[in-house]
Amino acid sequence: MSKFSNNCHKVTFIKHWTESLFSFRIQRPQSFKFRSGEFVMIGLPHENDKPILRAYSIASPSWSEELEFYSIIVKDGPLTSKLKNIKINDEIIMMPKSTGTLVLDALKPGKRLFLLSSGTGFAPFASLIREPETYEKFETVVVTHTCRTVPELAYSQEIINESNDDEIIKDFIENKLISYHSTTRESFMNNGRITELISTNKIFNDLKIDHISSDDRFMFCGSMGLNNDLKAIMIEHNLQEGANNNPAEFVLEKAFVG
Ligand SMILES: Cc1cc2nc3c(=O)[nH]c(=O)nc-3n(C[C@H](O)[C@H](O)[C@H](O)COP(=O)(O)OP(=O)(O)OC[C@H]3O[C@@H](n4cnc5c(N)ncnc54)[C@H](O)[C@@H]3O)c2cc1C
Repeated sequence: MSKFSNNCHKVTFIKHWTESLFSFRIQRPQSFKFRSGEFVMIGLPHENDKPILRAYSIASPSWSEELEFYSIIVKDGPLTSKLKNIKINDEIIMMPKSTGTLVLDALKPGKRLFLLSSGTGFAPFASLIREPETYEKFETVVVTHTCRTVPELAYSQEIINESNDDEIIKDFIENKLISYHSTTRESFMNNGRITELISTNKIFNDLKIDHISSDDRFMFCGSMGLNNDLKAIMIEHNLQEGANNNPAEFVLEKAFVG
């Protein structure tokens, strides 16, 4: 018996959004606890070799009965070139310990929470916007998602629409959740990187909301380049980076290594 057999969980749902993006759910082991926004190591069982495990943000909230993931498909990627072929009832390995910095505990109390993402970096925010505690802690939650093309926004658009109608979460959301989508390579109602949209104040003007203040808290998840540029904007506004053991005004996590 493989030493990973206790960590295998059945796939219950799969949806392909574009040629290179899909989401799937697995059964949640009863003993598995996590905080909304955390990530976990997952992989595919392998008969002889050690499985290839990769970090994945859990896209479902902490109260969910199943665990959802939102995945890129990297051509020739060691994991995702195989993961893209999973079917219902196949098994996924998930290591039992979750971790991460995109958690509410890593932020000081504030009034508005900005969740800024690009590409699959939306996954941890798919969890946090469906977490009641997010709305207990913040008066307004602004979630943004930027991708190259319009079809790549479909997953986040659906999650946000469904959250507003969801029996469990809609009463917590009330009118607190604001969303903003933009593209960088295709014409859309909003265009540009989130860094430009913030620096030019376009996002604040479009949403008719106040500019950045010391009461704002930020989480961001994108490429290393995007995270660095956003971090520079945070520092310009005298906001400090937080951590689990030292809450502050913003936290970030890489959406991938590379
Ligand atoms: C903390 C953390 C959380 C992550 N959460 C997710 C998640 O929720 N969903 C997800 O799809 N991936 C996520 N990743 C990336 C994931 O771990 C893998 O890299 C990805 O699944 C590809 O695996 P692979 O073995 O096929 O290719 P790898 O060998 O891992 O990657 C090959 C190359 O593909 C590119 N790449 C990898 N992942 C991405 C991505 N997500 N978006 C754009 N380019 C990418 C990079 O250039 C990388 O060097 C996360 C990574 C980290 C560090």
